[in-house]
Amino acid sequence: MSAIAQGAIQACPRCRSNTVAVRAVSPLAGVWTVYGCDTCFYTWRSTEPETNTDPDQYPAVFRLAAADLPKLQVAPAIPPLQAKKP
Ligand SMILES: [Zn+2]
Repeated sequence: MSAIAQGAIQACPRCRSNTVAVRAVSPLAGVWTVYGCDTCFYTWRSTEPETNTDPDQYPAVFRLAAADLPKLQVAPAIPPLQAKKP
């Protein structure tokens, strides 16, 4: 069992910032914990594989640098609905 599954909060697997907080815990204590990153909004469960929870094993292609987040493109806005034809 990884350290994070035992309740220790570590750096965010995706951006490695230390702005990780517990989002939810299992109704039965100690079964699972949901963590979330306040920097990149990555969210993960303690029960996921270490490739999702461990910053050193998180796939390099999906990693983000916290300093680059403001430079990322904004998702396109959804256009207004078109008027219904009579
Ligand atoms: Zn993050």
